[in-house]
Amino acid sequence: MGKALIIGCGGVASVVIHKCCQNSSVFEEIMIASRTKSKCDAIKEKLDGTTPTKIRTAKVDADNVDELVVLIDEYKPDIVMNIALPYQDLTIMDACLKCGVNYMDTANYEPEDTDDPAWREIYEKRCKEEGFTAYFDYSWQWAYKEKFEKAGLTALLGSGFDPGVTQAYCAYAQKHLFDQIDTIDILDCNGGDHGYPFATNFNPEINLREVSAPGSYWEDGHWVEIPAMSIKREYDFDQVGKKDMYLLHHEEIESLAKNIPGVKRIRFFMTFGQSYLTHMKCLENVGMLSTAPIEFEGHQIVPIQFLKALLPDPATLGPRTKGKTNIGCIFTGKKDGKEKTAYIYNVCDHEACYREVGSQAISYTTGVPAMIGAAMLMTGKWNKPGVYTVEEFDPDPYMEALNKWGLPWQINENPALVD
Ligand code: NDP
Repeated sequence: MGKALIIGCGGVASVVIHKCCQNSSVFEEIMIASRTKSKCDAIKEKLDGTTPTKIRTAKVDADNVDELVVLIDEYKPDIVMNIALPYQDLTIMDACLKCGVNYMDTANYEPEDTDDPAWREIYEKRCKEEGFTAYFDYSWQWAYKEKFEKAGLTALLGSGFDPGVTQAYCAYAQKHLFDQIDTIDILDCNGGDHGYPFATNFNPEINLREVSAPGSYWEDGHWVEIPAMSIKREYDFDQVGKKDMYLLHHEEIESLAKNIPGVKRIRFFMTFGQSYLTHMKCLENVGMLSTAPIEFEGHQIVPIQFLKALLPDPATLGPRTKGKTNIGCIFTGKKDGKEKTAYIYNVCDHEACYREVGSQAISYTTGVPAMIGAAMLMTGKWNKPGVYTVEEFDPDPYMEALNKWGLPWQINENPALVD
């Protein structure tokens, strides 16, 4: 059917690449391009001969629009899949516009340097206007809507699990299960154990920024912000068991609040063990989560980047991680005039993911929907010019593809609710 350019070659990209190679009738050719080309070559070498998909590799600095444009013009893909970091979202979108190619990613834009005065000025204005202080938000990418519309191109934002699949669950509930959705609780549970005292399951910089930030939720038309980790609940997850979970800010709340008509409350909870939280608090207290460069023995170092170099690479957690993830959405609302509840969720086994593609379930649950999102655009199933999040498209082909490609979902119409 076509060609995809995959940018980035870390933990999530490795799953995306394996899955594209399983879906060769859509992904006839892929190019893997990243900062460290040797990683791209290593995956190509592993997969060549096991798949009809033709694989090429390249080196690219995705912070540099001109470099991206040269690569895209030369390869001529049908889509650019941004599986690098959220820092590169805008440069890759700019390059796609210049070259006339569709775009997708798995996480919304945030800047690498949050002390940049030009960015901070816009950020502080947004905090006041919107009422939440997370460094990441959709405004930067939504600002590209008209440009993509005029170019007749599609940008699909946030097609991982959360964001991504969680929004497909919401669109599915809206289409098939409810006349009116009143509340949505997104529950992200990782019951896996990698045996390290402390490690993050995806890029440490992005992960630690996200979980150390104040939490917030949407209620009655506005944001309510709370100190980090200050709302805690216990939930008994199917196939995982009881876990403590904490309310976090999360990007899909922002788009769902706009796209689910009449929704009264949207919250996001993620499970954490006490050991993870103690390590994180300690690292934060000593300044290791800071993104501001410091002078150390004649070198400029960014503490959180130094920490990243010390921590286990998430891409290496696969062989060590045991247990399951359970991620989904609990809905309350009305159908045919009656009160109704529903819980749509997926359970994913770390060891089964490792056996299939050599990665743990966090990378798997992100990489599979990234491949599916790109396939929706490449096959024309999702096709409208502009910049969109997952819940703005018909959920049915995406939900069908989740069952087919390794993330089957189930519905419990009588779930325990979160108070
Ligand atoms: P990794 O750090 O493992 O991989 C990032 C990759 O991007 C690396 O290969 C890195 O290159 C490459 N890269 C970084 N900067 C550049 C650049 N300037 N130019 C080219 N390549 C670059 O991250 P993950 O795989 O864990 O995460 C990937 C994305 O997935 C992130 O955006 C993350 O936020 C998102 N994510 C989304 C989730 C969801 O459910 N929606 C869940 C988990 C993650 P190098 O190898 O040289 O370092």
